[in-house]
Amino acid sequence: MGKTVLITGASGGIGSAIALELAKEGCDIAVHYFSNREKAETLAEEIRRDCNVNTLSVQADVSKEEEVVEMVKAIEEHLGPVDILINNAGIDMPNLFSLKTAEEFRRVLDVNTVGAYNCARAVTPSMKERGYGRIINIASTNGINTYYPMCFDYDASKAALISLTHNLAVQLSPDIHVNAVAPGFIGTEKELEGYDEEFLKEEEEKILVKRYGKPEEVAHLIRFLVSSEADFINNTVIRIDGGQIGSV
Ligand code: NAP
Repeated sequence: MGKTVLITGASGGIGSAIALELAKEGCDIAVHYFSNREKAETLAEEIRRDCNVNTLSVQADVSKEEEVVEMVKAIEEHLGPVDILINNAGIDMPNLFSLKTAEEFRRVLDVNTVGAYNCARAVTPSMKERGYGRIINIASTNGINTYYPMCFDYDASKAALISLTHNLAVQLSPDIHVNAVAPGFIGTEKELEGYDEEFLKEEEEKILVKRYGKPEEVAHLIRFLVSSEADFINNTVIRIDGGQIGSV
C-alpha cells in the first residue's frame, strides 16, 4: 500500500492496533497522541523498527483547529502529505442527564466530532490537489442505537460523526472517499479494566458471538477499507459488533 497515514488517538487501544496493521502494509505512520507521549513514542519506535517504515509521533488536542493545522504541517514536513486519515481519537464522560454539565457535553462533542472535522479540514486540500484521499471516521454502534443512557452525549457525538461522514463523502467526491466504522464493545485493556466483572458478563451476553471484539479485528477492517480492494466503498457506515443486541 505504501501510503502516508495519520491515525488520531494512536496512543489508545484501537488506534495503536490500526497503526501497527497499516505499518505492516508498508504505510508511513503519524502516531498521534493527546497526553500519552510515552506510549506514542514507544509505538512509533517499535513500528519503525519492526515494519521498516517511517513514523512520527505527533501531539495535538484535536478539538483545537490551530493545533491540528500545526500537527499536519509537521507530518507533511517529515513524512509527506497525508493520503489516509483515520479519525479515531475519542472520549466519553458517562454521567446521569441530571448531573451532566453543558461544559462536559460540549467537550465530548468538541473532541469526537469537531476534532474529526478539524483533521479532515487540515488534510483535504492536499488530498484534493493530488486526486486521492481516504478518510475513515471511527464512530460507534452508540451513534446508531442507544445502549447506555449515561452516554447520551457520546451517542450524540457519534451520531453527528456519522452525519459528517455522509456530508463529507458527498462534498469530497469523487477522489476522496469517506466512510465510518461503528464498533460495538471492543475489549481494549482500558475497557476491560474500567468495568466490574458482573457488568462485563452482562454486556458479553448481549453480543451474538458471545465475546467482545478485539482491537485487531477493527484494524483488519480498516486495512481492507483503505486498500484498493475497497475502492467502490464510499459514503457508508460499517458496524463491527459481533451482532450486538439490547439497545434501549
Ligand atoms: P482509548 O484507548 O481511550 O483511546 C482514545 C484516544 O483518544 C487516545 O489516544 C487519547 O490520547 C485520544 N484523545 C483523548 N482526548 C483527545 C483530545 N482532546 N485530542 C486528541 N486526542 C485525544 O479509546 P479506544 O477504546 O481505543 O477508542 C478509540 C475510538 O474508538 C474512540 O473514538 C472510541 O469512541 C471508539 N470506540 C471504541 C469502542 C470500544 O469498545 N473500545 C467502541 C466503539 C467505538 P491520549 O491517551 O494520548 O491522551
